[in-house]
Amino acid sequence: STPQEPAPSQTDAHDEVIASLPIGHTLLGNINRYLEGSSSHCGALLLIDLDHFNSINESLGKHIGAQILDRARETIANMLGANMQMDQVAGDAFLLFIQDLAISESDAEQRATAIANEIRCTISRPFFTENGEVIVTASVGISLLAKGAEGPVPSAYQAIQQAESAMFEAKRRGRDAVMLFDTQITRRAQQRISLQSSLRKAVVNQEFDLYLQPQVSIHDGSVVGGEVLLRWIHSGQAMHTPADFIPILEASGMIVDVGLWVIRTSCEYLRNMLDRGIWTPDMQLGVNISPKQFHDPGLITGLEHSLKSYDISPDMITLEVTENLLIDDFESVVDKMKKIRDMGTRFAIDDFGSGYSSMIYLKRLPLDIVKIDREFIANLNSDKDTLGLVEAIMMVSRHYGLDVVAEGVESASQLEFLTQQGCEAGQGYLFGKPMPAAELTKLLQNQVTMPLEAPAG
Ligand code: C2E
Ligand code: CA
Ligand code: CA
Repeated sequence: STPQEPAPSQTDAHDEVIASLPIGHTLLGNINRYLEGSSSHCGALLLIDLDHFNSINESLGKHIGAQILDRARETIANMLGANMQMDQVAGDAFLLFIQDLAISESDAEQRATAIANEIRCTISRPFFTENGEVIVTASVGISLLAKGAEGPVPSAYQAIQQAESAMFEAKRRGRDAVMLFDTQITRRAQQRISLQSSLRKAVVNQEFDLYLQPQVSIHDGSVVGGEVLLRWIHSGQAMHTPADFIPILEASGMIVDVGLWVIRTSCEYLRNMLDRGIWTPDMQLGVNISPKQFHDPGLITGLEHSLKSYDISPDMITLEVTENLLIDDFESVVDKMKKIRDMGTRFAIDDFGSGYSSMIYLKRLPLDIVKIDREFIANLNSDKDTLGLVEAIMMVSRHYGLDVVAEGVESASQLEFLTQQGCEAGQGYLFGKPMPAAELTKLLQNQVTMPLEAPAG
């Protein structure tokens, strides 16, 4: 059961790999001449990249995509001063070269940022198409063309790369943003690239493992299910945490194959535990599904195939999705969730209460379980507002017939509050940390056999 090395994803490949942009010779020559020239002023390069342009093209059509590009080009062209030059450098990216912005670096920085923000705001004005209103945002990376200040003068190529990594940083921070290049960004970009290549090897060499964390009934303390959590055992190095590597798997598209492996392996574990009689069909195993996995057209067949291979009933699996999923296209997400839920598989909304969580989701999504974000549980003791919010989530969930699972339960006082609130189940260090499958097996064996065994001694 080795996950296949995935083909590099086409959409959003942009997010990860520092591409070499096709820059026109004239522009490149001009930048180089400027850098070598005698002006004592500071200039700047702005790389303006439209956000989610590939998805727009796919969902609204190439025809609308072309209109959006035209308008973005016009927007920038209209703002060009005599000291500026613009070029479309990739499908959806524009490079703006600005000469002699200011004498001091900090003034140049300020002006370049102001120009970038003006462009960003103008681009993100609503765009009217025959199908309605579209909003397209842009991420802008800036590199200053400072001369004689610190260090050697970069080449035009280096300066463009710097603008590009600043632009990636802007995307990483949520897009629709302006970022100025600094050396920290390069370091981070290099780390990400090296992590990405290690991850590609990890996929091939099967360096992943699944841990399981028990979910416990708040009424009687029995284990009612669990969640599988991906682990990367990277030879020779400290184990990376999912928070570090899952976003890279996601951005590079590798999560699709790794995710299918997670589903298959989860079914394998379930089969094993069912056969040992330590897992019962009413117990739930939670599997995390990231947005890219969810949207992958192979998800449903992959899930069906794994369930069949290990003879697992679909209702023993709960797919945990976060509201990040809903940013794109609410209706199509709901449709696909319904399709999967019709098979019998259940859905949990994960990290509920973080981000933009809206109670409306609880009504409009085909859900079974609400998992309250662990930040909320952590703040229960210290913060009255949190207390009220958790109460409200609990009330609304009950109204819509959803079970509530509290994440990150660490203390007896948190447990007490959850008991009072009528929360069904909890997950957290108080009950058990994520553990290797063998360890959970032991825990479950003890739980099942304990009352039956004669007392020791
Ligand atoms: P998550 O889905 O919210 O998973 C729960 C996280 O909370 C896990 O972190 C778990 O170790 C941690 N946790 C559990 N109980 C406690 C507690 O009492 N206190 C504290 N402080 N933490 C607790 P982990 O394993 O580091 O995973 C982080 C995130 O990575 C997960 O958050 C999930 O979003 C993602 N992830 C993990 N495995 C997978 C996977 O197989 N596929 C996908 N797509 N995402 C995964
Ligand atoms: Ca989860
Ligand atoms: Ca969570």
